[in-house]
Amino acid sequence: MKKRQNGRERKFIVYESHLLRLFASCPSCTSPTLGEVQQVKGSCVTILQDCGLCGFKTSWCSQPFVGAIPAGNFEISCALLFSGSLPSKTIRMFNFMNLATISYRTFMYHQQCYLHPAIVDVWKNQQAAYIRETLDSGQPVQLGGDGRADSPGHCAKFGSYTMMDLMKNLVIDLQLVQSNEVGSSCLMEKEGLVRSVHFLEQSRLVISQLVTDRHLQVAKWVRENMPNTVHNIDVWHVAKGLKKKLVALSKEKDCQDFVDWIKSIVNHLYWVPSSTPEDEEDEMKWEKWSSILNHIQNVHDGHGDHFQRCEHGDLGPDARQKRWLRPGTKVVEKLESIIDSRQMRKDIPKLSPTVQTSNLEAYHSVINHFAPKMNSFSYKGMQSRLLLAAMHYNENSAKGQAATKDGNLQYRIVFPKQKKGEFTVQKIKQANWFLTTPCHAVKKATLLLRLCVTSTSTQRRMLL
Ligand SMILES: [Zn+2]
Ligand SMILES: [Zn+2]
Repeated sequence: MKKRQNGRERKFIVYESHLLRLFASCPSCTSPTLGEVQQVKGSCVTILQDCGLCGFKTSWCSQPFVGAIPAGNFEISCALLFSGSLPSKTIRMFNFMNLATISYRTFMYHQQCYLHPAIVDVWKNQQAAYIRETLDSGQPVQLGGDGRADSPGHCAKFGSYTMMDLMKNLVIDLQLVQSNEVGSSCLMEKEGLVRSVHFLEQSRLVISQLVTDRHLQVAKWVRENMPNTVHNIDVWHVAKGLKKKLVALSKEKDCQDFVDWIKSIVNHLYWVPSSTPEDEEDEMKWEKWSSILNHIQNVHDGHGDHFQRCEHGDLGPDARQKRWLRPGTKVVEKLESIIDSRQMRKDIPKLSPTVQTSNLEAYHSVINHFAPKMNSFSYKGMQSRLLLAAMHYNENSAKGQAATKDGNLQYRIVFPKQKKGEFTVQKIKQANWFLTTPCHAVKKATLLLRLCVTSTSTQRRMLL
């Protein structure tokens, strides 16, 4: 453990009996004395030592103060929020240990008056730096947008909307919408997007491409209000829906053989936009997509005018494990209705060639760390946590892959839930939970606290 970490001292757990031993004799005349606990304020203790023999008197405090607040109490609030912990659980943990600590109310007070403004301020600075840099480069931006409800189901209190710069892999804007502001929780996603786009356009950013999920209201709004932006649908969201339907089909009577094909069809969906250049006509994507129906019946050419034959080479009998499907069977008919559905006809030409999938998933898991869906937070608490998650993600996204001492890159095997037992190999990122952003925020919050002690509220507002 470092003696100082970002300019902050170490702290220790001290037992009361051990502490009082330090006050067992008078520093002036060395006769025996009794130290007495005079006051406990949160995690801070004040001890009074009074010598009956020579009249020596002293009052000793376990912590430095920032204004009227013991520094340790304030640091508990900072650490609690900036590490993404939950106040009620953390305080209960301290209580289990019988360790003196702050109350829930004190934490809420610190959060409201100092931590939240400090976080917003650090975030605004980072955002402004990004916008300046982008405007200087003169380049338009390619964005990915996604909404998140704060709780599962349809009774969410808050919805957040995140805009990501897909090229730089950075979260660049975040809007928090309360469901009572927009009337219902389903409208929150669109409202978040609208606010974010307005903010970015006011900042004079040019949005050349926007990738979102297949949300209908969002698509309509973008079509009507952003004529110069190409709107794409994130292939991941479409793949998720498609896979569900395919799995359901494979469970029907006489369709069990089909199960081997599900993975290939989903992979084919990913391949369609990634193999098609942007300027290609929309029919190309559609013909590529629908060619899968021929392919699984062992027909590999004559797909269409733009995409005539499959791009794979000769398929010898050994190369193939899966059985071809026979024309006219129930499974082929049902599959055709899935592949050639109205929804697919709409979605396929709009599929995004820029993949944002893995980044979005990583970002969502960071949010889940800071603001778990099972818990409810105040508006400021929620906003603080979302901004912390964004800053945390941005700082980590710049980090490279972790390596061993010998310089070998590190990987791990994971079993993602959506893969239902199959594994994926993942690069291990350089581990970093102790980031500079929270430290900036701690410094800012402490500064704010100092200012509050010495200035009026108007001065404070000006200084921030
Ligand atoms: Zn004495
Ligand atoms: Zn083929």
